[in-house]
Amino acid sequence: MSRVALVTGGTRGIGAAIAMALRNAGYKVAATYAGNDEKAQAFHGVTGIAVYRWDVTDYDACGAGIAKVEAELGPVEILVNNAGITRDAMFHKMTPQQWHEVVNTNLSGLFNMTHHVWSGMRDRSFGRVINISSINGQKGQMGQVNYSAAKAGDLGFTKALAQEGASKNITVNAICPGYIATEMVLAVPEKVMKERVLPQIPIGRIGDPEEIARCVVFLAADDAGFITGSTITANGGQFVV
Ligand code: NDP
Repeated sequence: MSRVALVTGGTRGIGAAIAMALRNAGYKVAATYAGNDEKAQAFHGVTGIAVYRWDVTDYDACGAGIAKVEAELGPVEILVNNAGITRDAMFHKMTPQQWHEVVNTNLSGLFNMTHHVWSGMRDRSFGRVINISSINGQKGQMGQVNYSAAKAGDLGFTKALAQEGASKNITVNAICPGYIATEMVLAVPEKVMKERVLPQIPIGRIGDPEEIARCVVFLAADDAGFITGSTITANGGQFVV
């Protein structure tokens, strides 16, 4: 019987690559999104992957959404907390709204989602929680105090929860991508990319979403059960931890 994997923000960017890679690896996949129906329906049309709309900042909506996924596909055994946003500003100009939106989505979203699948994973003595953090949670990034704080928080969440899940065969791990070719990164002007971004990356290129998806498939596997509380750093050598 194939396991059910739920990927938040799974309809575009890195999340879409994760959802497809898990589907190709034999999982039943649910991909969630916040509001971009057009992208989500196009993704569903091309891949056949089930898509669900709710906001990860809303605890009750996460509970209701997960209940619907479980009724339709079965219990969620692999949860990939991938949904994330940026609201960049230098700290002296950052508004409380920019702070809270980013922390609510990128950090509290992990609580809101994971809390609703945790009891089931404990009851079944199996689970995989995979959190997509960021290089900027490891090293800090000017203009992203909110995002860096939330992504660093994801790593603390991962390490603490890993210790709680271990006796129940639930692993909790994180992945820290560097620059990955998603819409946001591809929108960076070519000149800036060539002169400012690429020189920071020893490997000489930005990463592909599929390279992050590969890490997720590895961590999701039944035989990855001895790996927990860890972080996979995938950034082309830009920041060596
Ligand atoms: P995208 O902006 O391409 O996609 C974000 C996805 O998350 C969309 O599906 C979006 O839904 C969904 N989403 C956003 N907010 C919410 C919310 N409140 N509730 C539910 N879903 C939400 O992101 P990326 O693929 O670039 O990034 C994916 C993850 O990887 C993020 O956590 C990001 O921080 C992290 N990351 C990305 C890097 C990069 O270079 N791209 C580098 C390091 C980390 P909708 O389509 O409806 O808006």
